[in-house]
Amino acid sequence: METKTKHILSFLLIAFFCAASAACANHRNRQNEKSGEQVINSSQKNRSEAGKLAEALRKKGISDKRVLTAIGNISRHEFIDENLRDFAYLDRPLPIEKGQTISQPFTVAYQSELLQLKPGEKVLEIGTGSGYQAAVLCEMGADVYSIERHQELHETAKETLRKQGYHPQLFFGDGYEGLPEHAPFDKILITAAPEKVPEKLKQQLKIGGWMVLPLGGRHGQKMTIVKRESETRFTESVHGDFIFVPMVEGTEK
Ligand code: SAH
Repeated sequence: METKTKHILSFLLIAFFCAASAACANHRNRQNEKSGEQVINSSQKNRSEAGKLAEALRKKGISDKRVLTAIGNISRHEFIDENLRDFAYLDRPLPIEKGQTISQPFTVAYQSELLQLKPGEKVLEIGTGSGYQAAVLCEMGADVYSIERHQELHETAKETLRKQGYHPQLFFGDGYEGLPEHAPFDKILITAAPEKVPEKLKQQLKIGGWMVLPLGGRHGQKMTIVKRESETRFTESVHGDFIFVPMVEGTEK
């Protein structure tokens, strides 16, 4: 009788554990399915948010389809602080680390449009910042080089871009020096404002190539194109008023 009771008890115990662990596995699976659904839903949501942002920029006058497609494909929220994610797809500049900013999407699109990039062109960006502009240039099929003077921003952007599947060549350094070892460039894009056109960068342009930069002091800048017409001749044209953070000499660790 005692042995029989023991048998019944162990049977009930085993049955209970089996049932319990089956229930757990089921719950876990359902949770996994659910989080899978959530991932799909949120990436669809971000894509449609990015698409809406591209559409808003088109309405504001951006017409280069490759720029708009690039912006529609990029998860801008991945390039900013989590606390600001609600604002990621609005046409606004946002703060990033080190007192810097991720440019307003319209400005990113406008500068990208002025570059008139052809796939495979070699482009140098000054001011990697969050890495968002570099992602746009990668999406447009360019061969992208980018320099950042803040080591921490450089490191963060490197990680973000890799995670998002972009592989530009990123450098920690002073953009005023450019990258003589990789020059000449078809195009150069400056995303911080120098007071004068940086001479060394002019010399790193291909003949027929050009540089897009916000030129001027702290109170505002003119979007400027500096084109290298020949070995020694450069021409300038002006394309509207903007406000950028200043382009600062040297580096910071
Ligand atoms: N393109 C960036 C915008 C960043 S704001 C983005 O998409 O997020 C401008 C950036 O230029 C800042 O990160 C600033 O640190 C950097 N910068 C300023 N002066 C620089 C210089 N001399 N060389 C390299 N980067 C510079």
